[in-house]
Amino acid sequence: MEKINSRIIKSLELKRESIMNEETIFGKILKGEIPCDKIHSDSLCIAFRDIQPQAPVHILIIPRKPITSLKEAKDEDIDLLGHLLIISKKVAIQEGLDNWRTVINTGEESGQTVFHLHLHVIGGRPLKWPPG
Ligand code: AMP
Repeated sequence: MEKINSRIIKSLELKRESIMNEETIFGKILKGEIPCDKIHSDSLCIAFRDIQPQAPVHILIIPRKPITSLKEAKDEDIDLLGHLLIISKKVAIQEGLDNWRTVINTGEESGQTVFHLHLHVIGGRPLKWPPG
């Protein structure tokens, strides 16, 4: 029984790993295979409007480097992560925001649905705390 359980767990882990390694919708956006409402692009990242906005302003900032989530970011990504944060601030201000929330969902239970690291910039309405 224990052997069967560990085999099932192993196969679920492999399935999860292969899903994580598959190209995400953001990978396709980066390649230009799927359109997006882009508002910023540079050598390290792009920013575009979320397709299902949760507030009047809802922007996603994604690195060109395919990092699955913040959990997989490495020490060597320190400058890239700083860059993403600075760009998130710039696009928020560019969108006319004085108050906003920057969110990074990490892992399925946090609400992460696309396994390519991204920052949400959400604003344009009062935001409640704590989030759900
Ligand atoms: P998360 O749930 O933190 O992984 O965020 C993924 C976000 O990507 C969600 O807010 C989705 O609405 C958004 N999203 C998914 N597909 C697209 C797309 N094709 N263009 C723009 N935003 C998208």
